[in-house]
Amino acid sequence: MHLIRAFRPLRLRAFHTTPLSHLATLQQTPPPQPLSVAERHATGILRTDWTKQEVQDIYDSPLMELLFNAAKVHRLHFNPREVQQCTLLSIKTGGCTEDCAYCPQSSKYSTNVKASKLLQEDTVLAAAKKAKEAGSSRFCMGAAWRDLHGRKTNFNTILNYVKEIRSMGMEVCCTLGMLTPTQAQQLKEAGLTAYNHNLDTSREYYPKIITTRSYDERLETIANVRDAGISVCSGGIIGLGEKAEDRVGMLWTLATMVEHPESVPVNALLAVEGTPLGKQEPVQIWEMVRMIATARIVMPTSMIRLSAGRVRFSQPEQALCFMAGANSIFTGDKLLTTPNNAYTDDQKMFDVLGLVPKQANHRQGSDKFLDVGEAPKVEAKKGELFIEG
Ligand code: SF4
Repeated sequence: MHLIRAFRPLRLRAFHTTPLSHLATLQQTPPPQPLSVAERHATGILRTDWTKQEVQDIYDSPLMELLFNAAKVHRLHFNPREVQQCTLLSIKTGGCTEDCAYCPQSSKYSTNVKASKLLQEDTVLAAAKKAKEAGSSRFCMGAAWRDLHGRKTNFNTILNYVKEIRSMGMEVCCTLGMLTPTQAQQLKEAGLTAYNHNLDTSREYYPKIITTRSYDERLETIANVRDAGISVCSGGIIGLGEKAEDRVGMLWTLATMVEHPESVPVNALLAVEGTPLGKQEPVQIWEMVRMIATARIVMPTSMIRLSAGRVRFSQPEQALCFMAGANSIFTGDKLLTTPNNAYTDDQKMFDVLGLVPKQANHRQGSDKFLDVGEAPKVEAKKGELFIEG
């Protein structure tokens, strides 16, 4: 009260003593400029015509500005309390003929990963059931293969796994290497929700990471998946020795696809001894936050998945990633062959942060309701904004 009394006369005096010429100058003062490029682009409108420079400018925005504006965009399209839990199971481990420089499953490198055959049905279905009981809404199956060529029996077995897990009410995802249009169609008919095929990095840096599969082959598989009406899951890895412009290049490629991937995994390299990248320095949390926030702004309706490397981040660090727009994590003790956060730790984190598991969404792939270029319809509910539909 005393403070108000003390300041009020001062404000009045200032008003009364302002000459008219000064008021005219004040009226002509242009409105303040946006604080950052991130703020200018934080509209939440779906765009596929980003220029690389725009993505770079967003990425280069002052970090707290970037974080704040990504959080704003996140709230335009999602309930920020909901985080999807996905469980990833390696159904066929190791012995892969590809030479991805980060991967301990490549047969080109000497690591402690042992090659194994396709897991049996009872093992896979038991893992899916356990994941569902633990709160996962999506079950992903990964096989260390270049493609499905000459693997008809195994592919038929996997199609059956897809059917069985879908009938449990879960979203089902696979990552099995390159796909032909026919194989993608078969997976769609079996009930596959999403297919993961990462770009890994920028087109320019890619040849330093993989030489056995081209960038265009990756894009072709992604197109085959999309054309079959399956949701695309595609992202990449940071910490491979790439520059900031490569991170931007990868996000730009994803954000200018004819349709944004439904989910975008952002992985931080977990360097594994024996691989060519075994001695890479760990990714810092601020690099991860910058990457996630930029992805959230340029692909506002995609699920942004905080993926490999999460095990290295503390609970407050992960909270920053969720604030930046990440709304999906992998749960389970392992991510294919590398360690992951303990399930009980994740439960505690959800409790502390007030997060809730996101329910399965079967309206994906060809059933999607948002068209490219169309701003999403939003409605207010209890003071927050959600997508209709
Ligand atoms: S990342 Fe996949 S394709 Fe590359 S070596 Fe590992 S298992 Fe093979």
